[in-house]
Amino acid sequence: MTKTRLTPQQAWDALAAGNERFMNDTLRHSNQDTDRRHELAGGQAPDAAFLGCADSRVAAEMLFDCGLGDLFVARNIGQVANMNMVATLEYGVAVLGAAVIVVLAHDSCGAVAAAIDQTSAHPTEVTPAIRDELALIQPAVQQVWFKTRRESPYVDPDQIDANAVGRRHLVTTINQLLRSSRVLSEAVASGELGIVGCQYQLDNGRVAPVTSVGMLDIALAEFD
Ligand SMILES: [Zn+2]
Repeated sequence: MTKTRLTPQQAWDALAAGNERFMNDTLRHSNQDTDRRHELAGGQAPDAAFLGCADSRVAAEMLFDCGLGDLFVARNIGQVANMNMVATLEYGVAVLGAAVIVVLAHDSCGAVAAAIDQTSAHPTEVTPAIRDELALIQPAVQQVWFKTRRESPYVDPDQIDANAVGRRHLVTTINQLLRSSRVLSEAVASGELGIVGCQYQLDNGRVAPVTSVGMLDIALAEFD
């Protein structure tokens, strides 16, 4: 499949319009039919890539009202930027031509809550594999904790704003992607790629942009 590469702004605007439809119950369900299947049988050229939480409530294509071949999706618990995810996103951008990466956190994230628990004085036992994933969220936990608390390095889960940790973790994740990948950072530098960190609001369906990198003009959501 060959087609003109979109600008990061065009790719983001299409996703934002789809999310508006999702919120307003005006879904088009485009690109989900037989014609689209046939069109894509020989290849794919998605305009956007997605790094999001594996949470069952965060179904990537549905949030943006898009369909087959539209979104290159990578998900794990807490959308952490480990090497597996870096490799997947590099493929989406360098090989397939995605012009924007959406990194999506969400309200009430179980992985964020678990990372907060792992940073407390008496953490719950988890498997080694899960502990390694949560370790990539813990820097954000500590940053939010130490912003206001000095009495102990151990986090009190009742005294920390989990959604603020999620938003901090978004910034950390995007930094991690850029530090880990020359392909991604050079694509941002050349203007071919933008990265948007968003928080998904479970109750109203809004994908709210929190931070962005690259040539993008986006009104960022305000949080306390
Ligand atoms: Zn989650």
